[in-house]
Amino acid sequence: MNIFADYHTHTLYSHGKGTIEDNVLEARRKGLKEIAITDHGPGHYLYGVTEKNLVGMRKEVDRLNGKYQDIRVLLGVEANVISMDGKLDVDRNILSMLDILLVGFHFGALPATLRDGYNIHIRNFAGRWIDSDRVRAGNTQALIKAMEKYPVKIITHPGAKADIDTVVLARAAAVRGTALEINSSHRYMTVEYVRLAREEGARFVLGSDAHTPKRVGDVRAAIEVALRAGLTAEDIINARRERGEE
Ligand SMILES: [Zn+2]
Ligand SMILES: [Zn+2]
Repeated sequence: MNIFADYHTHTLYSHGKGTIEDNVLEARRKGLKEIAITDHGPGHYLYGVTEKNLVGMRKEVDRLNGKYQDIRVLLGVEANVISMDGKLDVDRNILSMLDILLVGFHFGALPATLRDGYNIHIRNFAGRWIDSDRVRAGNTQALIKAMEKYPVKIITHPGAKADIDTVVLARAAAVRGTALEINSSHRYMTVEYVRLAREEGARFVLGSDAHTPKRVGDVRAAIEVALRAGLTAEDIINARRERGEE
């Protein structure tokens, strides 16, 4: 299969190392037709983009789309879940600037309330040893509610950072048309998880999660998982069949 897009890349606006144009140039070099710039949402207290930066990023993305005709550049955010009822750290104004919305659990994100902080951070941490079923169910519901409230295109690295119920999440993602990411940097979507999710009708996306320009479009690890799980290009939103491929 042919991968024509990388919808998950970071730049120095969060904690990546390159500029937006560096990522675009590397994507073109690898023959991609689409790239999304998806820095961490503003709620991440270490790496989050500011709303002010997003205004400048929007202009830069528009400029690059004019400059390079052979690739489509999308502006996105990898938003953070900040409450157990699925609130994200992106408001209406930010959403209006974006072409694509990704969502994932990250533990540097400031919670909406103290109680959410307790549930997202402390219980997830303790949940490795105690009450793990309830913690998993809570995380899964938070993502499902986020999909109901926002136009979420991709759930990033499901299962990394916070434990989730793959089958329940996949069922909801299938209904919403949200893709589950097989992330090349975090290896939590195992062959087993992918098979289970596919049985629920979910679709997938292969993401590099590049934090350096060099790694943009590098989804080799994800392709390997996808192929071993028996996925075809039809299951993957950023893949196409090669010519002559069955
Ligand atoms: Zn992430
Ligand atoms: Zn990321």
